[in-house]
Amino acid sequence: MSNTPPQACENFLRRIVAEDLAAGRVSEVVTRFPPEPNGYLHLGHAQAIWLDFGTAAEYGGRCILRYDDTNPNNAKDEYIEAILEDTRWLGYEPSNITYASDYFEQLHDFAVHLIERGLAYVDEQSGEALRAGRGTLTEPGQNSPYRDRDIAANLAEFARMKAGEFADGGAVLRAKIDMRSGNLNLRDPVLYRVLHAPHPRTGEAWCIYPLYDFAHGLCDALEGVTHSFCTLEFEDHRPLYDWLLAECGIDEPTRPRQYEFARLNVSHTVTSKRRLAHLVESGLVDGWDDPRLPTLRALRRRGCPPAALREFAALAGITKKTGLIDLALLENCQRQQLEAAAPRAMAVLRPLKLTLTNYADAAIELEVPNHPQEPGLGTRRLRFGPDLYIEREDFAEDPPPGFRRLHPGGRVRLRYAYVVRCTEVVHDDNGEVIEVRCEYDPDTGQGQQPEGPKVRGIIHWVCADDALDAEVRLYDRLFTEAEPDFHETKDPQTHINPDSLTTCQAKIEAGLSDARAPDCWQFERLGYFSADPAGQPGQLIFNRVVALRDTWGKRGNK
Ligand code: ATP
Ligand code: MG
Repeated sequence: MSNTPPQACENFLRRIVAEDLAAGRVSEVVTRFPPEPNGYLHLGHAQAIWLDFGTAAEYGGRCILRYDDTNPNNAKDEYIEAILEDTRWLGYEPSNITYASDYFEQLHDFAVHLIERGLAYVDEQSGEALRAGRGTLTEPGQNSPYRDRDIAANLAEFARMKAGEFADGGAVLRAKIDMRSGNLNLRDPVLYRVLHAPHPRTGEAWCIYPLYDFAHGLCDALEGVTHSFCTLEFEDHRPLYDWLLAECGIDEPTRPRQYEFARLNVSHTVTSKRRLAHLVESGLVDGWDDPRLPTLRALRRRGCPPAALREFAALAGITKKTGLIDLALLENCQRQQLEAAAPRAMAVLRPLKLTLTNYADAAIELEVPNHPQEPGLGTRRLRFGPDLYIEREDFAEDPPPGFRRLHPGGRVRLRYAYVVRCTEVVHDDNGEVIEVRCEYDPDTGQGQQPEGPKVRGIIHWVCADDALDAEVRLYDRLFTEAEPDFHETKDPQTHINPDSLTTCQAKIEAGLSDARAPDCWQFERLGYFSADPAGQPGQLIFNRVVALRDTWGKRGNK
């Protein structure tokens, strides 16, 4: 699979890459995407993937998928597999798949190198003392009593750490930089800690593990990464990134560089693995692929085309300023992708029986286009007869002013078929409408207008003879607020939209009996729908990818 270059979209990182190539500072662009396999990828990661893989592809370079498995307690095989699958689904193939743990040996050697140069020391203070000695933003830190231990002693102590002679938290290796630095990350940051935990890849081989900050830049250097893009919270870590590379002897001309951009935040949802896990674990959604979630699994299941996500990442933009991107932008990208590609079909979500009282002949078949503007998508045959279903809300017994659909005595066109006039309404014992009876005008087929006033309303329908039963799931924003106040410590229901899922027992046209994910259709007038991969043979389930228009704001929501 070749990687998909990003849609043309200017951003400051792309400019930096182009300038570095033009000036000959780099000959090949090498980037990396470094997820921690402690959860599933979400919309934010989609943008990072688009940036890392897409920029490399655009400039003929390569992008490495490097799992950050420096914390053995977090890395899980389930997530490792899912991350690769989701990355491929998005349209990107890593040039290499690596793990921070592949480099544990070299990282250890770099640590020894720093100790030998008097630039790292083993600190045996308690965690509490370490924290207290670090100082604050306004107060400088205090030198540790272990700071001036000699090199030989530090080498010996580090060897003891590696040999398992300390309990968890009993000792750490720290860089010796500057406890008075205004940047807290330079106040003798911890490089290694003791953790007696088996690692999914290295097993029992290690009981000391490098911290992300130590591992990250050095792995970048070992892999020949030229441009290391990360989110803004790492800006203050960059001096440490550069210090480690310089002191570990990575020469300036080939040294990787870190660049930061603002994290993508999307309205009415959460893009933090921790909060997503909270949603799943508290049962507020139905698993990691619940189509209401912003995880890539969920978006895939819902039927979101990966190209829409790439377009979204491009349009959301890469900047230095943190903002909030409206979920409506993603929905627009989905509509744009699906408009030309999705064949049309008819489905009735809340069926109401419509009977043609003057239709005496047997059912016929109408040939109709699969797409109004794309003849290449072909035609299909729809059965038409006296027993039909229409949408309950397309009929009003007492129509409000301007109602263009069906009402007693009123006329409407059945899409691709005839004009009908409502002659009778049937109620059940509770007074609810259970059937409308109509007369059709046989002279109004194929768009012919009837005599008299023009018929403006067109409604969709399915034929009762061969319509299929299907469960159709309509999704709405998961949260009612643009920036939900949703945390582990809060009432879990806070800002959850109670109407985020509506399930309908629908009737759909017969041709969709073999609908399979990820195929998408536009159900006329209702939106774009995709078959749910969990549907069993004989059981049709459709997810609404997106409605035809954005109605959230129009309903008075924020
Ligand atoms: P989370 O807060 O969800 O745990 P993370 O940053 O810890 O996210 P990682 O798996 O460590 O997640 O991230 C892998 C890469 O994806 C990193 O380079 C990170 O900067 C990037 N990334 C994560 N979230 C976003 C986001 N919202 N917008 C852009 N990039 C992101
Ligand atoms: Mg993380």
